[in-house]
Amino acid sequence: MFDTLQDRLAATFKGLRGKGRLTDADIDATAREIRIALLEADVNLAVVKEFIAAVRERAKGAELSGALNPSQQVIKIVNEELVDILGGQTRTLRFAKRPPTVIMLAGLQGAGKTTLAGKLAKWLAEQGHTPLLVAADLQRPNAVQQLTVVAERAGVAWYAPQPGNGVGDPVAVARESIGIAETKQHDVVIVDTAGRLGVDAELMQQAADIKAAVNPDEVLFVVDAMIGQDAVNTANAFAEGVGFDGVVLTKLDGDARGGAALSIARVTGRPIMFASNGEKLADFDVFHPDRMASRILG
Ligand code: GDP
Repeated sequence: MFDTLQDRLAATFKGLRGKGRLTDADIDATAREIRIALLEADVNLAVVKEFIAAVRERAKGAELSGALNPSQQVIKIVNEELVDILGGQTRTLRFAKRPPTVIMLAGLQGAGKTTLAGKLAKWLAEQGHTPLLVAADLQRPNAVQQLTVVAERAGVAWYAPQPGNGVGDPVAVARESIGIAETKQHDVVIVDTAGRLGVDAELMQQAADIKAAVNPDEVLFVVDAMIGQDAVNTANAFAEGVGFDGVVLTKLDGDARGGAALSIARVTGRPIMFASNGEKLADFDVFHPDRMASRILG
């Protein structure tokens, strides 16, 4: 997803190689090229401005250390600032002191929530947890069935209203699932919620009601990295309407520019915690800001 950005930055840094010292004009020219590369990758404009200002200031003020040549020094600064934009430290899940730990997923329809529920459950099961997947997406006709299929593929338990018995209240389903987890000794509950194609008030209210009913330890906002600046706008809407603790980026295997999604941590002040890069349950990992920065810098 970040191939073009990677190539552009590599070309920029190549231009600095061999220079004995960097003048302010060299730094300004480099900053301009990095700015264009980031904007072309669709990184949010406000984030780019802040990033470039920080890089420029630090590069101009940098004392040449013996170990690094000027171009290496600029790369080091860019790397550190990139890690910072991406959220700094890796942020892992917080588990409740008293189980079950409740994780709620929110986001637009098609963001990859249900798939992510399966991925997260499998990943947790591999670490010895006993997750329960809960279908609180009763909006989409196939959502419940899709969740049960995903749960079975992940080899974990699921809870959903039985089709046709009139149970249609996602808030009640989510609430009931906590009692079921306690009785059946599931130490983690993952609640999948409904998404709409666009942000709407009813969707926000339902997600907020589910949140109030289950008091989650973590609310994860799941967002498709392919949707460009809408990723940032949607994140802001969910931050305001529901509130979330962390972000999951999906579809990082896509060929869209993806830079907008990388701006989410900075724009919302919430860390990117996981990343999905494919349709298979194994295509999932903890998000490490430092590794992503290294990948982008090649
Ligand atoms: P939901 O509506 O938010 O629950 O989204 P789904 O989990 O149903 O996913 C929507 C579509 O995106 C499905 O076809 C998934 O297979 C696909 N999908 C989910 N995550 C990824 C991913 O990381 N990469 C790719 N390429 N496809 C994904």
